[in-house]
Amino acid sequence: MSNKTTSDFEKVVGHINTACKQLNIDDAYRLRMGKCERELTANFPVRMDNGKVIIFTGFRVQHSDSRGPSKGGIRYHPDVTLDETKALAAQMTLKAAVANIPYGGAKGSVICNPKLMSQNELMRLTRRYTCEISLLIGPERDIPAPDVGTNPQIMAWIMDTYSMAKGYSVPAVVTGKPLELGGSKGRFAATGRGCMISAQLAAKQKNLSLKEATVAVQGAGNVAASAAKLLAKEGCQIIAISDSKGGVYSSKGLNIESVLNHKKETSSVIDFKGADTITNAELLTLPCDILVPAAMENQITADNASQIKARIIVEGANGPTTPEASKILYANGILAVPDILANIGGVVVSYFEWVQNIQSLFWEEEEVNDNLRRLMTSAFMEVLGISQAKKTDMRSAAYMLAVKRVAGAMAIRGIYP
Ligand code: NAD
Repeated sequence: MSNKTTSDFEKVVGHINTACKQLNIDDAYRLRMGKCERELTANFPVRMDNGKVIIFTGFRVQHSDSRGPSKGGIRYHPDVTLDETKALAAQMTLKAAVANIPYGGAKGSVICNPKLMSQNELMRLTRRYTCEISLLIGPERDIPAPDVGTNPQIMAWIMDTYSMAKGYSVPAVVTGKPLELGGSKGRFAATGRGCMISAQLAAKQKNLSLKEATVAVQGAGNVAASAAKLLAKEGCQIIAISDSKGGVYSSKGLNIESVLNHKKETSSVIDFKGADTITNAELLTLPCDILVPAAMENQITADNASQIKARIIVEGANGPTTPEASKILYANGILAVPDILANIGGVVVSYFEWVQNIQSLFWEEEEVNDNLRRLMTSAFMEVLGISQAKKTDMRSAAYMLAVKRVAGAMAIRGIYP
């Protein structure tokens, strides 16, 4: 399914180049944004439960710190590459700029299959990986968070390992932590909540009431499940949901809590009683009002974009749509809210968590959610305004907003020395 002819990082750089050209941004800034500032590869040993030692490879990439400390999640996945990590790091720079929060972008990853590892193995891998990247991370330098295959427990081990080396507790070194360790209320569901807010704002543009909307969600992890639950709460009918094994569909709408309970018990959404089994490819082209791709990259491509029937796409995942597909969607009048806008909820509430940690002052969930809605609405309206003024799609508009802010920061800071 993945389109590997252009690398993931090249795709992001392609969007950056186009936006810089559209805005006449000086080449000095465009070329800087086209490279990652730092790329660390670490090969490190981990002792497995059976006594054997396995050498794992992990990465930490800092794309840019022009607007502030770099920020970005950590992915544990068997297929992750340095190129994918670079693409995700660059997208983090752009997301922080779209959200207008004072961060640059970074990303980390380890090539591993967390589903096949015990909790003890995962803990040893995480602690060793944290040591390997500790020359780069820190609350004023680079702040990791969860992504695919990682979770609050893994963030807790990162916080503990980093703190042990320092000799004192450093909660602000990582976000997405459990509440007991200084995590923020509302962080776990923040990316999904941001998708729900994006869907609300996009529906308004299409004169669509969420109470009547049908929704198909690809993925059933953190982002997808939170988005599905919150959209159902808004009155949407979730007609399909999937995971890596396949999907389930019911034209009458699925009881999303029951589907997610079924997944907890059986490790997949498939075979949920009363629903039809579908493939991930079929899910994408279902007749529905809103499609939320919230699993992996390169799902909507030139091959299937023209078959997409949704009126609105909310990109919960990073990079789910290829550049060629993006053009087809726009030509077909589909309002696609791009990843660097639709899924900023996670980094925005991570920023709130970091602010709370630094101040040792914690907010109620309502305050977190209200502030998230305020930032997301303002980002959405700014991007929409650019897309209307420049007669272009929301993705190009979001990239324009982002590169303008990053280039602006580079210009004011100047070049050292
Ligand atoms: P997760 O690990 O919790 O869930 C991933 C989901 O994708 C799982 O349901 C898995 O079964 C499914 N999946 C994996 N491979 C698949 C395939 N080939 N086809 C269909 N489904 C597949 O991860 P997550 O944190 O929910 O992240 C999902 C996406 O959202 C990723 O692109 C991630 O980079 C992006 N994202 C996450 C956050 C966050 O806060 N967690 C923030 C912004 C963006």
